[in-house]
Amino acid sequence: MSIVVQKFGGSSVGSPERMRRVARRIAETADAGNKVAVVVSAMGDTTDDLIALAQQLTTRPPAREMDMLLSTGEQISISLLAMTLQEMGYAAISLTGRQAGYHTCGTYAKAKIVAMDSVRVLDELNKGNIVIVAGFQGTDKRGEINTLGRGGSDTSAVALAVALEADVCEIFTDVDGVFTADPRVVRKAWKMPEISYDEMLEMAVMGALVLQPRSVELAKQYGVKLHVRSSFNHSEGTIVKEVACMYKDLEKELVVSGVAHDMNVLKTTIFGVPDSPGVAGEIFGRLAAEKINVDMIIQSGSRDTRQDISFTTGRDERHKIERILTEIVRQLPAESYMIIDTIAKVSVIGAGMITNPGVAATTFRTLAGIGCNIDMIATSEIRISCIIDETKVTEAALALHTAFGLDAAPAIDN
Ligand code: ASP
Ligand code: MG
Repeated sequence: MSIVVQKFGGSSVGSPERMRRVARRIAETADAGNKVAVVVSAMGDTTDDLIALAQQLTTRPPAREMDMLLSTGEQISISLLAMTLQEMGYAAISLTGRQAGYHTCGTYAKAKIVAMDSVRVLDELNKGNIVIVAGFQGTDKRGEINTLGRGGSDTSAVALAVALEADVCEIFTDVDGVFTADPRVVRKAWKMPEISYDEMLEMAVMGALVLQPRSVELAKQYGVKLHVRSSFNHSEGTIVKEVACMYKDLEKELVVSGVAHDMNVLKTTIFGVPDSPGVAGEIFGRLAAEKINVDMIIQSGSRDTRQDISFTTGRDERHKIERILTEIVRQLPAESYMIIDTIAKVSVIGAGMITNPGVAATTFRTLAGIGCNIDMIATSEIRISCIIDETKVTEAALALHTAFGLDAAPAIDN
């Protein structure tokens, strides 16, 4: 008997009707002779609604209480889904993150899973139950509830698949799979049949919201094959696995496999930073101590004995950054700092870049062709990202998708 882990996102369980459809999908998998463990997110916009509710009562919600609050969203969906399955005549049980054995690191709002004790889940599966687990949550050593960051149920599902040595981890969502660009923006984007972990990770980090980046890291680390597919139909989605090479003439045709964009970008510049050893370490050490993820960093050449440093983060870090930088500017001292949030990031991603020169040039020329100024640039082996004005981002994504020959889907080599 195989073990299958299925994860359903918030929109897939957003109403009683949808909940029933998801239950039927789970039941089909159980009827086919599988043991099924299911991870669910909070229904629809529940998490956003809870955040909005807290913001009506306080401008700076304490992280601990936020995790206490947000973890309730998933508890609503697990109990309702278990009831629905029972109503249909299936043995099912819901488990919170703690009951399912998720041990987290203790960082509120963006905890990592440090260990997974799957005894209870296995026991329930062996008793013949379909097990419905709350995603996005775990508890630390003291029993404190931690959430895993937005989209964290994906990571919950992969961790469960690892712990149960599941045969497959299916991520059900409201789109058909992973696309070459956001199909709401780039109409000609198409669903990729397969993608490698590394490319998926870059896509996810760069703003393709299908999977939480951490879930891809974990899947890669343990070699868990992910199947990202729609909960609304039965068509094959996208398989995320070690290497993907499914197109004829892959090298010739597709140097770039996807274009991602991200509006959640905040740029901070510190002016007149002393040009001496240890200063960058001090600045970024302080940001790291507050668990702020920094994406791009640019340091200008020094003028006299001072220089400017710019970095980007998510927009939600603004309050923390203002507080930290006010102190840093005084202490170093630096001249001043400035925060800009009217920017966005557009990225081209593809393993083919490693062996094909000229991707950077094409990217920059394409952006120039639409009159788009590039503010910052960052690269990895398989990615080029540019910070641009947020008003240009749609046009930039469309132009890059066309420039890299992605507007028509290639032949699939079966
Ligand atoms: N409910 C959480 C969120 O909205 C976790 C998830 O959906 O994966 O981010
Ligand atoms: Mg999600």
